[in-house]
Amino acid sequence: MLNFTVGPVMSSEAVRAIGGQHVPYFRTPEFSEVMLQSEQLVLRFACAPEGSRVAFMTGSGTASMEATVMNVLTASDKAIVVNGGSFGERFVELCQIHQIPHTEIHLDFCQPLTEAHLAPLANQGYTAFVVNMGETSTGVLYDMPMISRFCKENGLLLIVDAISTFLADPFNMAELGADVMITGSQKALACPPGVSLIVLSPRAIERVESSTTPCMYLNLKLALKNGERGQTPFTPAVGVLLQINQRLREIEAQGGVDAEVKRTAALAADFRQKIADMPLRLASPSPSNAVTSLRPVATPAYQIFTTLKDEYQIWVCPNGGVLRDEIFRVGHIGALTPADNTTLAEAMHDMMKRGLLK
Ligand SMILES: *Cc1c(COP(=O)(O)O)cnc(C)c1O
Repeated sequence: MLNFTVGPVMSSEAVRAIGGQHVPYFRTPEFSEVMLQSEQLVLRFACAPEGSRVAFMTGSGTASMEATVMNVLTASDKAIVVNGGSFGERFVELCQIHQIPHTEIHLDFCQPLTEAHLAPLANQGYTAFVVNMGETSTGVLYDMPMISRFCKENGLLLIVDAISTFLADPFNMAELGADVMITGSQKALACPPGVSLIVLSPRAIERVESSTTPCMYLNLKLALKNGERGQTPFTPAVGVLLQINQRLREIEAQGGVDAEVKRTAALAADFRQKIADMPLRLASPSPSNAVTSLRPVATPAYQIFTTLKDEYQIWVCPNGGVLRDEIFRVGHIGALTPADNTTLAEAMHDMMKRGLLK
């Protein structure tokens, strides 16, 4: 199998080997030590400001999105939510469910966020800005420095879903003044699904500490309290947490976060160059390094996904809903190499010869 989806993605050999072992008991000093080390590595890779903490949540990325909305925002907030695709839509729904007053910036498919969207929202009493740094459903990477400037000028709390972009695109939490960064185990962390991480700035921690929202499993106060000793309130996905630790140490050993972002950027550029002569148009004008969204000229997109899967054992990522036949996506996260890009490009060239890609 060759997996170019955007999660779950392929894992390194050492990460996979951990998946083949027995899962250890975790209320031990040894496991605590692993967790405290993972927290330090994540804080370093996110360039988190002094005093930040990490909550390790058992649950996919959406669990951490919901935990953030529940524990960091309140009914006294007035949030701006960027909705440029299905993950932005998810934040809008979460704000609705948890009754967080919010205004949605609705963007058309692959439309970039610009100053023109933000300007009318300046000085309007907003308190928070919620954005998916990369809208994985479209492959758009938002202009984070622009968002950061707007948030600083207006004193907004900045909540960033970097679930697919952390480790793939440059992200400096301290420089951006971001207060929350969310990521998940099955995206660029390249581990099995089941764990998501929330990095909280001191300002976000204060909000968590003063939160009165009733909840148990997604309670971040509990998560942070237990995390002080490298533990979690409930039985976590222990195996996945060990795999995350392995992966973080691999990144560290291979030159750290900058090297990993550079590697992913090079892989994305290599792929985009290898398909330049094909009847495929780049759908996103500002693509993330994590994923390339492609619009086939004539062949229905979903059919390309099916042919690659059934006849070439290569997985790309289909789109759902109305875009099913318009768009498919190719991921650049996980244990992929330029040679894998060549394999995919060769399969696509073969499909062109057979009239299955036009
Ligand atoms: C994958 C992803 C999520 C979360 O999805 P889960 O299926 O809950 O892990 C959220 N936001 C973005 C931008 C994503 O790429």
